[in-house]
Amino acid sequence: MDLYLLHSPRSKSKTIVLALRSYEKDRAQIKDIGSFVKSLPKNIGAGYGGHTSCIEVSTPKARLIVDGGSGIRGLGEKLMLEACGAGRGIVHILMTHFHWDHLIGLPFFTPIFVPGNQIHFYGVQPDLEDNIRRTFCKPNFPVPFENLPASIHFHTLNPRQPQMFDDVKVTPYQLDHPDPCWGYRFEHGGKALAYCVDTECLRVSRESMGADLALYQNLDLMIFDAQYTFLEASERINWGHASGPIGIDVALREKVKKVLFVHHDPAAPDAKIMEAERQTREYYESTLAAAHAKGEPLHALEWEFAREGMSILV
Ligand SMILES: [Zn+2]
Ligand SMILES: [Zn+2]
Repeated sequence: MDLYLLHSPRSKSKTIVLALRSYEKDRAQIKDIGSFVKSLPKNIGAGYGGHTSCIEVSTPKARLIVDGGSGIRGLGEKLMLEACGAGRGIVHILMTHFHWDHLIGLPFFTPIFVPGNQIHFYGVQPDLEDNIRRTFCKPNFPVPFENLPASIHFHTLNPRQPQMFDDVKVTPYQLDHPDPCWGYRFEHGGKALAYCVDTECLRVSRESMGADLALYQNLDLMIFDAQYTFLEASERINWGHASGPIGIDVALREKVKKVLFVHHDPAAPDAKIMEAERQTREYYESTLAAAHAKGEPLHALEWEFAREGMSILV
């Protein structure tokens, strides 16, 4: 399975200035600008990105989008170069919940304005259709839902019941968020990834997670909410978001292979997200050391803080 995080860098202009300075100094150094930018520290390089939630999960046969945050605008442009541009696109969008940061990109998703395209929305919440319709509503947006040229369909998913989308099995599980929010587990070809956003992970024990524990088990990749620093997460109870150390605990316990931390605080500069990443590393290393000292070594866990535009082969 391929996973794409669909955004663009928030520090783009800074990156270009740095690249140009380097170009004047040494042409050979930026023969490959992409690698050069990636080699820079995140607070002066491409950064973590500033768009809101949208990911794409693809397999040889299926392509699924999760959430319609501002990142979906760029994805729409990509899809327009394919079947959506000719009005022959079939798009599947799974919604976790309806907070603005997960909806705000939908009015700017170009394939929805092309006759012939089919846009399918999926969600567990019974008010899925009402919430999507309200996103296209005067005076907030000039084109009312009824006038959208694409054909739009709504599908209610059953909680914790798998549904096949071509060759990928998708199962929704409930997360811990102030309004009902459902994460998704994707399984294909013996691999599994889960999208666990937005969640505060208030149910920390296996027992308290109940039937939703299955979301986190035997994962090759867990995409996890790390909006806050460790300190902020301890202060912001019931705000609906977690931090890196919480994801580390869940991943070590459930033997997850890799964690991708996402949903960085939109108000945080890159330096602050770097600090959250540093705290997570400190926590991870101290947790491993403590387990080792007790003679109960933990499995090595791969993890990183996501950057917009990343793509990962699972
Ligand atoms: Zn939310
Ligand atoms: Zn959110």
